[in-house]
Amino acid sequence: MKKIYSFIIALCFINTLKAQTATFNITYNGFTTQAQTAYQYAADIWANTVVSSVPIKVTAHLQLLPAGTLGITFPNGIKNFAGAPMTDRWYATSLANSIAGTELNVGVPDVEMFLNSTVNWYCGTSGTVPAGQYDLATIVLHELCHGLGFLSLAKDSSGIGSFGMLRSADFYNLVQAFPWPNLDTLPSVFDEFLVSGTNQQLDSFPNPSTTLSPKLKSNSVYFNGANAMAANGGVKPRIYAPASFTLGSSITHLNEATYPAGNVNELMTPNGNPAYALHNPGPICIGILKDIGWTINPSLGVNEFSSVNNQLEVYPNPSNDILYIATSIPKDKIKSILVKNILGETLMDLGKTFSNDISTLTKGIYFITVNSFDSQINQKFVKN
Ligand SMILES: [Zn+2]
Repeated sequence: MKKIYSFIIALCFINTLKAQTATFNITYNGFTTQAQTAYQYAADIWANTVVSSVPIKVTAHLQLLPAGTLGITFPNGIKNFAGAPMTDRWYATSLANSIAGTELNVGVPDVEMFLNSTVNWYCGTSGTVPAGQYDLATIVLHELCHGLGFLSLAKDSSGIGSFGMLRSADFYNLVQAFPWPNLDTLPSVFDEFLVSGTNQQLDSFPNPSTTLSPKLKSNSVYFNGANAMAANGGVKPRIYAPASFTLGSSITHLNEATYPAGNVNELMTPNGNPAYALHNPGPICIGILKDIGWTINPSLGVNEFSSVNNQLEVYPNPSNDILYIATSIPKDKIKSILVKNILGETLMDLGKTFSNDISTLTKGIYFITVNSFDSQINQKFVKN
């Protein structure tokens, strides 16, 4: 769920479709052609990020939702499937299918998404969003991530905290495409990684209980997965856990204040921003997806942020403006130095220049590619 919030930052991003490692089969309800194009654009980013041999089935609705809500997404859930890495934990079926290598929910969608038709959507894909409009591609990218399993089953009601006690009625009775499961007071695989400020696992507390309740509202909840931490400089990423629990926002997002608009990890915070685009999941989000069981497109390598290898070094990393490039390839052997996005699209041709102004790039993950006459080497960097 992404909610309306006021923040104005204009960004630009250039992006088009490349070879994909997953397939999204999307059923559209209430979408214009332009809205479908923006939706497909966001789905293509995920299709190039996660790896699955099983097509991911999405049903998308553009319809009236309560004011203040941009979108709500429900992943279909499954537990204890053959080969499940964790027992008694809920997996998004798209993730379970990718792990199992077979379609476990034949004929039933993996994701049902509702987007608010009353929102002033920007349906282009340029990343330059006019004032007062919300970038549909950004919000779809966010919502699809929930559909992939970036989702907590935490709830706080009348001072009782719980996992796995969500009901359809909690979300305007929107679910139609698959039956609302009996969640059996079981956490999601995402929940398994949630810890308090003193590193106590949240799902180790009695469930449901009054003991768990304050933990969910403590402003001190973190994600302790190894990949997410590695993507965050070895530190546990902070989860959104404000003093007032809001179902659909609390616990199931990265912390708003830690990753504000303009931060490379902003996508999975609870609040959406007008006149703002972020067409990149960000390294922490990718780390979390890896921790819950997703295989990430190996050609992205987005979880490795060390900038040094034998042949190519880029620094500083992350970088704000001037990016320096050092390579063991002799200059007279270099054909070109390129800046590419995570989809492999060339954004800048740097010629043979080793110090370059990259300040015009949107915050996100990029690659420097050095082409020589007999090799091509790549190095990731982060634009802050
Ligand atoms: Zn959300």
